[in-house]
Amino acid sequence: MIETQEWRHERERMVKEQIVARGVEDQRVVDAMMRVPRHFFVDKIYAHQAYNDYPLSVGHGQTISQPYMVAVMTELLELKPGDAVLEIGTGSGYQTAILALLCKMVYTIERLSALKESARDKLDRLGFKNIAFMTGDGSLGWPQYAPYDGIIVTAGAPEVPNALIDQLAEKGRLVIPVGSELYQTLNLVTKQRGRIFRKEIFECTFVPLLGKQGWKE
Ligand code: SAH
Repeated sequence: MIETQEWRHERERMVKEQIVARGVEDQRVVDAMMRVPRHFFVDKIYAHQAYNDYPLSVGHGQTISQPYMVAVMTELLELKPGDAVLEIGTGSGYQTAILALLCKMVYTIERLSALKESARDKLDRLGFKNIAFMTGDGSLGWPQYAPYDGIIVTAGAPEVPNALIDQLAEKGRLVIPVGSELYQTLNLVTKQRGRIFRKEIFECTFVPLLGKQGWKE
């Protein structure tokens, strides 16, 4: 990734006050959050707010997740450098960049092609080569490249989609908000010897996952 010093002090403050102070310990995640220029992923008029402690609009009724949420979800995946990760809800592409620094390959799906194109353009300009993009319904996963060591869903689902459980590798980790259209609980789903385990992490609020195994469009 192409590095930049722009907004570096704001980035340092964000990482220290919002991420490390709240208990994110994985140094690789902390380093990735320190490197990725978050302001690059929001509209220019919001650049000065990009390092603040809340989500921001990315247009089309969608949001770039709060920095802390990105850090926690990424830490829960426990990514290793050789891993393949599936991301549902590319949105701005910010979470995609964090993932791409921590694993071998990211497969990312976005339902809105305008958002996908804008994220792809930004990630290309930052020099990422290990990201594959698709426009489509991510609630069905991306069977072609399965299984995935990690799956991250950045939109709220009514249930954990079966397609995603099927596409999770043995010892894989799936992070997904599950609940109503307004409030969800972040869930960590793991697969061990073919058995599925589910753990609730904390309450959260995401835009809805729309699709065949999500909410009705
Ligand atoms: N990680 C993104 C979050 C974007 S918000 C970021 O931080 O920028 C969630 C995104 O999920 C939206 O862009 C929305 O269009 C997308 N989405 C909703 N349902 C989807 C589906 N079934 N498949 C793929 N993307 C979906």
